[in-house]
Amino acid sequence: MGRCKLCGKEKAEIRLAYARLNLCRTCFTEKFFPNRVRRTVEAYKMFPADASVAVAVSGGKDSAALLHSLREAFPAVQLVAVHLDLGIPEYSEEAERSVEALCRSLNVKLKIYRLKSEEGFAIGDFKATRYGSKLCSVCGVVKRRRLGRIAAELGVDALVTGHNLDDTVESLMATFTAGDFQQLVRLKPVLPAQQPLPRKVKPFYRTPEREAFLYAEFLSLPFSRQKCPYLSGSRSLRGKRLLDLWESEEPGFKYRVLSAFEKLIPLIECSIPQPEYMYCKVCGLPSSQPVCADCRRIEALKSRNAVRT
Ligand SMILES: [Zn+2]
Ligand SMILES: [Zn+2]
Repeated sequence: MGRCKLCGKEKAEIRLAYARLNLCRTCFTEKFFPNRVRRTVEAYKMFPADASVAVAVSGGKDSAALLHSLREAFPAVQLVAVHLDLGIPEYSEEAERSVEALCRSLNVKLKIYRLKSEEGFAIGDFKATRYGSKLCSVCGVVKRRRLGRIAAELGVDALVTGHNLDDTVESLMATFTAGDFQQLVRLKPVLPAQQPLPRKVKPFYRTPEREAFLYAEFLSLPFSRQKCPYLSGSRSLRGKRLLDLWESEEPGFKYRVLSAFEKLIPLIECSIPQPEYMYCKVCGLPSSQPVCADCRRIEALKSRNAVRT
């Protein structure tokens, strides 16, 4: 691989094929990676340099890399980490240990919300409902709602999530091929605040998943390597594998999909009416339907319990 292209001194250890760039560890972790995070936040006006933000941390590599690189890129931003204990056996315990170690080492305040003790259920309980075959999507809905609510209670300027380039491009492809153009708009890097929920932003919008992993790995950040036991055979894993194949044949492919998406967004926004948002009759939070997706799932869980007992 030769020498690092940035410093010209150290031995290069990472090849970024899409940029035809070979970098050493130091230049990657101290310059390239946090600089891209800073540029992404600034380019999409995610939050100002003195904002207070809540960072969703799952315990995995993305959230570890996210919390660390935000600290590097925005030393004046006030960070608070928010972790949901989803009650998934072993997986959740390991995730929590990693999150605690991470926040301790970075000196970041951590808020943990436990589904089981706060609301009496765990993600696995949905297996017995009509949502059982789509556990990942239920989990997504449950997490989104609670993270939004907690961020609102904390009164922060933005809720930050670790969605990376691969997450976004995979969701784009799946949403696009399903013909769900209305939903496509939801994949933008910044979603505006919907009172009382703060705006949602993705500083890793342009960060490939592999690089988030390498960053966390090179800096020895504490993160859990456990895969969620419910994830096997999920659509998103399959989609990402296919995208990796495409990317290896045609470096830069993922970024090209993202650029095409950005050109498409304004067209979609002016030609397809976006759902008007109202307030959920049950929880009172913003929703596109009279009862929000989260409350409908919780309802299914309760009626199943009613049948059982
Ligand atoms: Zn270098
Ligand atoms: Zn609701």
